[in-house]
Amino acid sequence: MPELPEVETMARELAPRVVGRTITAFHTDWPRAIRHPDPGDFAAGVAGREVLDVARRAKWLVLSLTDDAAMIIQVKMTGQLFVVSPETGGDRHVHHVFALSDGMELRIRDTRKFGRLGLYRRNEAGRVLGADEAVELFAGHGPEPLDPSFTLAAFRKRLRARRGRLKPLLLDQSFVAGIGNIYADEALWLARLHPLRRADSLTPAAERRLYRAIRSVLIEAIERRGSSIDDYTSLDGDGQMQHHLRVYGRIGRPCHRCRRPIRRIVLGARGTHFCSWCQRLPASQRGLATATLLRSPRTGARRD
Ligand SMILES: [Zn+2]
Repeated sequence: MPELPEVETMARELAPRVVGRTITAFHTDWPRAIRHPDPGDFAAGVAGREVLDVARRAKWLVLSLTDDAAMIIQVKMTGQLFVVSPETGGDRHVHHVFALSDGMELRIRDTRKFGRLGLYRRNEAGRVLGADEAVELFAGHGPEPLDPSFTLAAFRKRLRARRGRLKPLLLDQSFVAGIGNIYADEALWLARLHPLRRADSLTPAAERRLYRAIRSVLIEAIERRGSSIDDYTSLDGDGQMQHHLRVYGRIGRPCHRCRRPIRRIVLGARGTHFCSWCQRLPASQRGLATATLLRSPRTGARRD
């Protein structure tokens, strides 16, 4: 599933193709994907509006349109974007088509149809408002990990306020936005921290390692245009980060630091990849529940 680096790549590659163009028409054969407003109003609302900017918030694409409108696209598991001429052949998985004033089409292809679209309004401060306009659309999301305001001090403060274990915490979008299963595992390996380590048990040095690891993993993944695992591809083609992952999807293969095999356990229904030698769990945190989790198979066919 696309995470921060993948959606960021899509935003950067979509922008030069749509900014400055006006959406002239919208067609969908899967109106259930439209979260807000109702599909007829969505189509009428986007038509005639110019795309001013393409940005990302968490794992969402945010297209700024004229008249303080903001269109959001959530690609979810299998959403793919293409900007092509109308003559370009499509297939039955293309569910949403935006006609653009330069004669091209923005198409959203989505084999599993989990993706979502919405059209919202911005307030005077430029914040995207939710459906009822009483709260901001992204009010429930934590800070952007690559934003300059996300400092080590800010990260420490958030971390020390939490009691959970590190892996589920990194996946919690209200803690920090945009991290998913791949980059949580990668950041924890880089920081040499066990996925089951309690968030409030880190030394200041370990907190700093985790902070730096999160940012460096995400920056590297953006530079490599994301991980093309499963269905993710961007407008300029597949990313390359999948060839540079240290633990994710490397079950049984040697750790890049110590050469011991990478392990996989299942945590909250998500596969978790780590090196049990480099990422030690303190003895005081190895309770009964932890021991059960850690006994799960060392290898498995599932990748996620
Ligand atoms: Zn290792």
